[in-house]
Order: sequence, then C-alpha cells, then structure tokens
Amino acid sequence: VRTAKRTDRLEVYRPGVLSAARRRFLIESRLRNALSTGGLHLMFQPLVDLASNEITGFEALARWHDDELGPVSPNDFIPVAEESGLIVQLGRWALNESMRQLSRWDKAQGSIVPLRMNVNLSPIQMVRDDVISAISDALRMNGVDGRRLTIEMTESALVGDPDACRTLLNALKGFNVSIAMDDFGTGYSNMASLQSLPLDALKIDRSFVSDMLVDSDKHAIIRAILSLAQALKLKTTAEGIESHAVAEALRDMGCTVGQGFYYARPMTADDAFAYWLSRWEFEAI
Ligand code: C2E
Ligand code: MG
Ligand code: MG
Ligand code: MG
Repeated sequence: VRTAKRTDRLEVYRPGVLSAARRRFLIESRLRNALSTGGLHLMFQPLVDLASNEITGFEALARWHDDELGPVSPNDFIPVAEESGLIVQLGRWALNESMRQLSRWDKAQGSIVPLRMNVNLSPIQMVRDDVISAISDALRMNGVDGRRLTIEMTESALVGDPDACRTLLNALKGFNVSIAMDDFGTGYSNMASLQSLPLDALKIDRSFVSDMLVDSDKHAIIRAILSLAQALKLKTTAEGIESHAVAEALRDMGCTVGQGFYYARPMTADDAFAYWLSRWEFEAI
C-alpha cells in the first residue's frame, strides 16, 4: 500500500489500481500521438470459403507498437479509444487505410479477383461520428465498390439506440455495403432485432469455436446459431478456427466462411497478398 499526500487529505491507493489508471492514461496520450504521426498499422487475416477453400477476403485488424509501451493489443487500446473519443479518428483511419490497401492489391493483380475487406466498426463511432460519410468517403477516395466492404459490428451497438442503429445500417445498404454481426453469441441481441436489422452475416464468436469438438454445449450452440442464420438467410463466419478438424466440422455443419490461426494469423499487407497469390495459383493449377 502506497500513500500520497494530496493537499490536506491523505489518500490510500492500492498499487495495482494506481498502475492500471496510469497505464490507461499513458495509452490514451500515446495513442493520440500515434494517430497524428501515423504510428498505427493494419494487419490482415484471411477469410476462407469453407466449401471451396478459397480466400474470399481479409479482416483488417489494427496494430500498434509504441516506443514507450511496446506492442499494445487492440483489446487494450480499442476500449481506451472508445472512452476517450479517439475511436472516431482511429475508425476513419482504419476505413481509409483498408480501402487503400484493397485498391493497391487491385493494381498488383490486375483486379482479376475482387478481394473483399472486413472492417470493424465500434458502436461508439456510430454515435460520435458521421459513419455514413466516413464509409462513403473511404470507398470513393479509393475507387472501391461498396459490395467489397463488410462492416463488422458487435451486438453492443444495439444496446443504446436500436432504432438509430437500424436507420444507420439501412443507409449503409444504400452503398451496397455488407453488415456482419461480430462476436455473435456473446452479446444481447434478441430475435426481434436480428430479424429487423439489414444483416448479411453472423460471425460466430471464437469462444464457441475453438473447443467445439470437446465441449458438446458449445457444439450445440454453434448448431443453433447456424440454423438460426439459415432461417434468416444470413451467411455465417466462424472465427478462431485453429485446427483442420474444426474447419471440417464447421463445413459439414453448413458454415460458409472460416477465419483462424489454422489458416493464417493476421499478416502484413505484403505477406497477406503473397499468401493469397500462392493459394490462388495453387487452386488454378
Ligand atoms: P475481432 O473483430 O473479433 O477480431 C478477431 C480477433 O481474433 C483478432 O484479435 C484476431 O487476431 C483473433 N483471432 C483470429 N483467429 C484466431 C484464432 O484462431 N485463435 C485466436 N486465439 N485468436 C484468433 P485482435 O487482432 O487482437 O483484435 C481484437 C479485437 O480488437 C477485435 O476482435 C476487434 O473487436 C478489435 N479491433 C481490432 N482492430 C480494430 C479496428 O480497427 N476498429 C475497431 N473498432 N476494433 C478493432
Ligand atoms: Mg471483427
Ligand atoms: Mg470477431
Ligand atoms: Mg472476437
């Protein structure tokens, strides 16, 4: 226990609490700096069609290596960005950068295969930013068709104002952008909201997928999500596939797309493109 004298009062801090608060403060100020100096980058993780084994696109995932803090996980800096409002700038950057990457890949491969991109959208962005113009600007400035973009949002987007969320998503459909519910199964969405939102896909949360073959409850939950998706005519993506056996089981159960370390970890843009190219050439033989 450490004590700190504050004017006339003596306050007692537990060291763990103090360092967590200090770390949060540090993350916020360093992140603000990184956003204005280009200190963040994106990594890309393949999305694989489970039936054909082809790569259909990539999920863009933010990465940050700070000089002082070292590598900081998005699980640590995204919540800070959300609390501080920096998520607006971060979200716009992620959209622009990922669409710019798509157009770079188009040039590199002659646009023979229109790769797709999934980009995460924080529910805070929906409230604090003009998401419609952020997305349409990113598409227009990089010459990317909205059909190639999927926005991933979590169920928590529905907690605040479900009507506003629905209106926003409907407006996004005007740009032909697809919408996937991320980390599905861990949040609060109910059947009514699922049915009333213009969703295209459910992304089954990793916590069910990774040990679905040893945990019969998780297996049952995945089965239920897949049949729900089928009934609502939604595509399904399973995240966190770490073995061949899980990939096969999901394919046999009718899941459409897979993502996970079994296929590839998130990679730099160059590695992602080389990986895609090598698989594509292999398929073409
Ligand atoms: P998410 O959107 O659910 O992304 C999937 C996460 O699962 C990624 O973690 C990915 O690296 C990890 N993953 C994928 N396959 C496997 C696997 O087989 N095994 C394991 N153990 N993990 C796997 P990451 O990159 O650390 O991102 C964590 C979360 O941070 C993301 O979860 C997303 O919610 C958020 N995030 C990342 N980038 C952005 C961004 O640009 N904007 C927003 N708003 N959120 C972001
Ligand atoms: Mg995601
Ligand atoms: Mg996810
Ligand atoms: Mg997740």
